[in-house]
Amino acid sequence: MERILVIEDDQQIQNFMAYALENAGFEVISALNGKDGISQMIMRSPDLILLDLGLPDIDGMDVLKKVREKSEVPIIIVSARDQDKEKVTALDEGADDYLTKPFSATELMARIRVALRHYKRMNTLPEKGDDHSIYEYGDLKIDNGAHMVWKKDEEIHLTPLEYQLLLLFIKNPGKVLTYRTILKTIWGEGYGEDTQVLRSVMASTRRKIEENPAKPQYIETEIGVGYRLKEL
Ligand code: CA
Repeated sequence: MERILVIEDDQQIQNFMAYALENAGFEVISALNGKDGISQMIMRSPDLILLDLGLPDIDGMDVLKKVREKSEVPIIIVSARDQDKEKVTALDEGADDYLTKPFSATELMARIRVALRHYKRMNTLPEKGDDHSIYEYGDLKIDNGAHMVWKKDEEIHLTPLEYQLLLLFIKNPGKVLTYRTILKTIWGEGYGEDTQVLRSVMASTRRKIEENPAKPQYIETEIGVGYRLKEL
C-alpha cells in the first residue's frame, strides 16, 4: 500500500483529502504543521507528499526545501494562493506539481497517479547519454538512438534544440515543466530567464508536431508557469 503524507493545517481539507485517499486505497499520514510534517517524512518515508504552502509554523516553501535536502519523494503543492509566482517558485524548488484549492477528489487522484508514475519511471530510465529508447506518443515516434522523429509514419526533421525540447517532454508526460527548468535542462545555467528563446523554439516545434499549432493537442501551455505534455 502506498503511503501519502498530507501536510495541511486546515482540518477540513485534511479530512477531505484523507477520506479521498483512503477510499482510493492509500495509507494516509496527517501532519497539521510544517515541523511535524518534516519529522513524519523522516520517520515514515512516505511515497508522496501533499504540501500546503500556508502553514502556521514554518512556511511551506521552507518545508519543501528541507524535504528536498533529504529526499526525492514526489511532492504536490496544495495551495490556496492562486499566484503564478509561488507555483513557479515551488516547482523550481523541486515540487512535482501543484493543485489550487478548491479541487475535486478526482483531480487530486489524477495528479497523484501522474506523480507516482513519473517517479517510478525516472528511477528506471537509462542513464543520460546511454538512452537509445524508442518513445511512442500519439502520432509521434522518437528513436533516441538514431535521433529520428516520425509523425504518422512520416519522418519529420527537428533542429537539435527542437529535438531536445520534444524529448524532455516525452520523458515527462503529465508533468508541468517551468520555463526555468526547461531552459536550465536544455540551454544550461545562465539562460534561466530567457523565456523568449524558449517560446520561439516551442513555436517551431509545435509547427512540426501538432496538427494545429494554434490549438496544441500535445504540449499545452500552463499560463505564467511553463508547459505540460498532455497524458494520453
Ligand atoms: Ca493552510
